[in-house]
Amino acid sequence: VARITDIGSVRAALLEWYDAARRDLPWRRTGDPYAIWVSEVMLQQTQAERVEHYWTAFLDRFPSVEALARASEDEVLAAWSGLGYYARARRLREAARIIVRERDGSLPRTSDELLALPGMGEYTAAAVASLAFGEPAAVVDANVARAVSRLAGLPGDPSRGAAKKVVRDLARRLLDPRRPGDHNQAMMELGALVCLPRRPLCAVCPLRARCRAVRSGAPERFPGAGSRLGRLDVTEIVALVGRRGRILLVRGGHDRGWWEGLWLLPGSAASPTESPAARLAATVERRTGLDCRFEGEPIPFSYTVTRHRVEGAALEATDMSGPLRRVPGVAWFSPCDLGSVAVPAPYARLIRSWFERGGAAATRRGRIRRRGAPRSRRRS
Ligand code: SF4
Repeated sequence: VARITDIGSVRAALLEWYDAARRDLPWRRTGDPYAIWVSEVMLQQTQAERVEHYWTAFLDRFPSVEALARASEDEVLAAWSGLGYYARARRLREAARIIVRERDGSLPRTSDELLALPGMGEYTAAAVASLAFGEPAAVVDANVARAVSRLAGLPGDPSRGAAKKVVRDLARRLLDPRRPGDHNQAMMELGALVCLPRRPLCAVCPLRARCRAVRSGAPERFPGAGSRLGRLDVTEIVALVGRRGRILLVRGGHDRGWWEGLWLLPGSAASPTESPAARLAATVERRTGLDCRFEGEPIPFSYTVTRHRVEGAALEATDMSGPLRRVPGVAWFSPCDLGSVAVPAPYARLIRSWFERGGAAATRRGRIRRRGAPRSRRRS
């Protein structure tokens, strides 16, 4: 039977530790429900250290729920650029519009009401309700689930099935009703800083005296290994097509379903049967109407998104003929333009270093053949 003994002393030890050891994160210094909500959405899939800068800049740009509701989707995605998981930003804006339209700009105060808003899962609703309004709602993210599983010595996967329910019940019972917001922050902080997935720092843990996993001698075995999702590997090729100091981008989503609505380098999955140059030429032609030739050494890059590790190669267009198809979602961008549109961080890094290496200048020298002019002899 899963249990945590002496709940009162666990709560007290946890809060005492949190009061002394907590990180000074900017959203912990505000009581503004809107600002807290934005931080919790950003923290859903991104580490606190990375969120700090984005949260401050986002609030400078959209200081109130009204300002966010007034903004266009493009503006919001541009401010979110680099944080990833862009659906979060779209739903945040959508929810802000509902709050302004239906609630005169006031956030709902309970987790049940918050749950009705777009993008508001149980975790975010409980976090906002407890941190901003003092509701005794327990937050259970992956960090909290791991720490609770270990405290109670639960071996099962806390993200599903019976173990998930048991962990949620335990987290609710553990919640300190006098300081629910601080308790939730403390549990999340413990999971992020001390009760680490592979090497929990039990020697400095405020809860070690009451932890069943540490008594087993192998706390890292809790919860079960089945809770870790495997990583999927993907390979892709992208095109660096430049003209007069600008780069060609297309708007849409990645073939794999991420980055919907962002500006991307034209590209596709690598093919085992077709050369990267031929495949990219066909992809660019289909999307933009430009007839390009790619040669030279591929530029390797890699990134991680959702559960995917992507290994990629970028190829430079050295010759092209037009004209560019005049359709929405296909455009040239200068380095200055890139700051005001949403380009995923891995592509933005690649483009920046390509501009710095003079890639755009090299392409600028590339020939733009007039329509009907003979093709280059080098074309394959
Ligand atoms: S004692 Fe170790 S396993 Fe138990 S909660 Fe603390 S860090 Fe986690």
